[in-house]
Amino acid sequence: MEGYRHGDGYITDEGGDGFAHVYRVDELLHESRSQFQRLRVVRNAFFGRMLVLDDAVQTTEADDFIYHELLSHVPLCAHPEPKRALIVGGGDGGLLREALRHPLEHVTMVEIDGEVVEVTRRWIPSIPQDAFEDPRVELRVADGVRFVEESEVGFDVAMVDSTDPKGPSLGLFSSEFYGRLAAMLGSRGVLAVQSGSPLYQKELIALVARNMRPHFRWVRHYLGHVPTYPGVLWSFTVGANGRDPIEVPDEEIAGRMSAIPTKYYTPRAHRGLFEFPPYLRAALPVE
Ligand code: SAM
Repeated sequence: MEGYRHGDGYITDEGGDGFAHVYRVDELLHESRSQFQRLRVVRNAFFGRMLVLDDAVQTTEADDFIYHELLSHVPLCAHPEPKRALIVGGGDGGLLREALRHPLEHVTMVEIDGEVVEVTRRWIPSIPQDAFEDPRVELRVADGVRFVEESEVGFDVAMVDSTDPKGPSLGLFSSEFYGRLAAMLGSRGVLAVQSGSPLYQKELIALVARNMRPHFRWVRHYLGHVPTYPGVLWSFTVGANGRDPIEVPDEEIAGRMSAIPTKYYTPRAHRGLFEFPPYLRAALPVE
């Protein structure tokens, strides 16, 4: 029997030392190279249309809801009354789509690569849907690191949907960046970031924890299952100064989410997302 091959006709997304997820490319819909990265949209029989930046799968039609619900609803429910939100990265618009389900007044999205926005809107419109046309949205094509260094604007919640820490996204994991965001967020502010695989990127979670702790009273990690990210199990980290994100009452979340349709995140799941199995708890900086 012929096995999966590395090379043409397949996307090989390396997860850790010695293993990768391999996807068959049933159709190459788009390929280009921006100033920052190689962009591809491919169709896979199981996952549908997939956005691939360099060789890393970013999001797919089949599972985008999991990651985007987790990175939006957890921090937005952790804030008592979010009105203004900031998204850094997230060019595919999936996180924006989920955040806009909350009664926010304004969302600023700062994505360094305008081509990611254009390509996803054209080739995978089911991910952003009509999020970019929402009058509450201000899209800035700019470096998120520079934006937080220079902007004087305040936000209630910030969500960082970055690529892995290399090249332009490296600065999105630094203590200086988190410190600037904490200052912009004020005393009740909440910040959530994707912090990589808890299996294969333990040092990344440790780095995020170390760099966030000086700036936030509570720094909590939570987990979700994202089938197309290496190892499937994925981590997110939330920093908050107003209240502990784990301790938000179930009834409050239920009220806030009652009119918001979700397929992964639920009020009852909220607290459980922060529960790490002992083998991971022992290996990670989780309290
Ligand atoms: N969920 C994805 C994952 O972890 O695989 C990330 C998806 S999202 C498309 C990541 C985005 O972050 C990319 O579009 C990339 O261009 C953007 N990005 C990287 N560095 C950035 C920076 N310094 N400022 C703003 N956006 C940045």
